[in-house]
Amino acid sequence: MLDRTIYLDYASATPVLPEVGDAMRPYFTNFFYNPSALYKEARQVANAVDGARVAVAHHLGVKKEEIIFTSGATEANNLAVAGVLSRFPNASVLFSAIEHDSVVHTGEQYHHGIIAVQPDGRLDLDDLLEKLTDTVVIVSVMYANNEIGTIQDLKAIARIIAAARQTRKERGNTLPLYFHTDATQAPSYLDLHVHGLGVDMMTINSGKIYGPKGVGALYVNRTIRLQPLLSGGGQEKGVRSGTENVAGIIGFSKALDIVQNDRNNEVDRLSELQHDLFQKLEALGCKINGSVHHRLVNNIHVTFDGEDNERLLYALDQKNIQLATGSACSASSDEPSHVLKAIGLRDEQARASLRITLGRYTTSDDLDYFVTTLQDILR
Ligand code: PMP
Repeated sequence: MLDRTIYLDYASATPVLPEVGDAMRPYFTNFFYNPSALYKEARQVANAVDGARVAVAHHLGVKKEEIIFTSGATEANNLAVAGVLSRFPNASVLFSAIEHDSVVHTGEQYHHGIIAVQPDGRLDLDDLLEKLTDTVVIVSVMYANNEIGTIQDLKAIARIIAAARQTRKERGNTLPLYFHTDATQAPSYLDLHVHGLGVDMMTINSGKIYGPKGVGALYVNRTIRLQPLLSGGGQEKGVRSGTENVAGIIGFSKALDIVQNDRNNEVDRLSELQHDLFQKLEALGCKINGSVHHRLVNNIHVTFDGEDNERLLYALDQKNIQLATGSACSASSDEPSHVLKAIGLRDEQARASLRITLGRYTTSDDLDYFVTTLQDILR
């Protein structure tokens, strides 16, 4: 047995990169100051937060004033959905059938509709067209799914939304219509420029991109006014009160710099590993879930009919291989994931599925060891 662990659960958490840790460290000690304080050392801290905001804004192609730092993707998703709907309580939200629970459970508190997805996880655009009625104020569709890795065609969705906006205008309907995307799983592999994608709000999460957990951001187009979730000292332009998580914000922006700069290399490297692994797993008799072409390069999701994924997981864990049956976010529930149901898996198929997610430290040797170990366990 190997004397190390093989980590294949990068969609649930990523290690903080050494450069990120180094960038954060001074803000716990010498530069511990509250950025709202007025002495010069505190102003330096405020400047550092400002620099991080500029860096994050740069990767999204937006103005720094449009970035709101939050405690992560859960808060950013809640803020996007509830922040709009509490201003328009009679209006409704549409979200896809495979959104993260932080969108689903927030959206369910308001008038809402759920947009179906196709068997590969891509949004059913006809269903969107049908449900995009005159009362919808926000549509939320994730950029890439955390369980099956399906990447959505945000531009195509944005075109449908833009056409609906135009029709409304012609009819004199003044209700706004915003497009939000949860891009939590995207930054290591995909372009984030929001204007090209056509989105008005975007959620980013530090903890999945080799930055610290518990920090993230919501891009909010400057024309949008959100009802804050938290009230207090008025930080983040009054949209998100609370003393800034300075070290977290610094680490987050550093991590986003690194993953966006290394994006093309990682896409090339991981897509080879992914292709190879799919072939080897298919040879073991699994069925692949999700899309072939519109898929994050680090995601492999498969079903071994007749198997029990918890048994597989524990047996792999015994061999120091760490991976997931589904998303870690729904780990507390025994219910098969709503994502797998939405793409048409039966409960027993969902319970026979594994999610393998790769990352910066994954090597082909790791995957070879994983495949031979899994082969032994399946026998
Ligand atoms: N959205 C997606 C797509 C996610 O994968 C996750 C985390 N699994 C979240 C939102 C929530 O992130 P956090 O728990 O860090 O707030």
